[in-house]
Amino acid sequence: MAILNILEFPDSRLRTIAKPVAVVDDGIRQLVDDMFETMYEAPGIGLAATQVNVHKRVVVMDLSEDRSDPRVFINPEFDILTDEVEQYQEGCLSVPGFYENVDRPQKVKIRALDRDGQPYELIAEGLLAVCVQHECDHLNGKLFVDYLSTLKRDRIKKKLEKLHKQNA
Ligand SMILES: [Zn+2]
Repeated sequence: MAILNILEFPDSRLRTIAKPVAVVDDGIRQLVDDMFETMYEAPGIGLAATQVNVHKRVVVMDLSEDRSDPRVFINPEFDILTDEVEQYQEGCLSVPGFYENVDRPQKVKIRALDRDGQPYELIAEGLLAVCVQHECDHLNGKLFVDYLSTLKRDRIKKKLEKLHKQNA
């Protein structure tokens, strides 16, 4: 397994739209394993392949406190099941150090393939629903900062650009 480099906002590669996975083969399973290792090491609760500069529709997630609930979403899609929205303070491994409130539909039905390429469906509410929407956004080149005001987004962008320059 390998720790992968995580792209950070405002890196333009985060805006790439990921391609569907045609076959869930050993290469994809290797990517899934590397993404879990990268996510756990960060540490984070979700990671989309886009964030590690692999533009395939693959997401990993683990919302448990003891890393006991690894979830794999390959080619994920979701339908919104309610008009109700819920506000969560979201963060992102690609926007390190910033947490902001985002409104999202509270309940979704997810369809995806698992690590073996088997299709499954899942009704998600609460944090799981939020995370799935956040990670699906990544696969479409979208970030949670896109939901914020231009002022807030620009402030985050400037701070991260300054940090990136210092670390370069
Ligand atoms: Zn994210």
